[in-house]
Amino acid sequence: MAIQRTFSIIKPDATKRNLTGQIVAKFEEAGLRIIASKRIQLTLAQAQQFYGVHKDRPFFDELCEFMISEPIVVQVLEGEDAIAKNREVMGATNPADAAPGTIRKEFALSIGENSVHGSDAPETAAEEIAFFFSGLELVG
Ligand code: ADP
Repeated sequence: MAIQRTFSIIKPDATKRNLTGQIVAKFEEAGLRIIASKRIQLTLAQAQQFYGVHKDRPFFDELCEFMISEPIVVQVLEGEDAIAKNREVMGATNPADAAPGTIRKEFALSIGENSVHGSDAPETAAEEIAFFFSGLELVG
């Protein structure tokens, strides 16, 4: 499997509870390298654009309000099979369904406040990385 890049967000519920370091440790233990990282706070318009694919879902407004409620940490992770590996380390969307040892099992508060975002496919990874980072900020 080739080296891939994926996009990650440490969400407001996790930054608020000072869990950034513990979450980053999970990525690194899984062999994912952090090749770009910054702490930002989204505007509502940015959150709505980023989650545009979910705009017709009943939880869209709640999700966008949550994502702007506190700063977030956006990162690019690199490694073998990084997209699937990151999804595995994150665990299922709903922490009640997440496997033991995963980030969401250990840290998520609910299906909405679930601590992390990770790209689900190569195309979305490329789009999401470009949404937040310039090429100059990716230091592999
Ligand atoms: P994932 O983040 O695991 O890829 P989705 O793409 O399905 O999951 O959903 C995006 C995000 O929307 C989730 O991570 C979660 O924060 C929120 N979300 C998903 N389903 C619900 C729900 N039923 N109620 C509230 N928020 C939800």
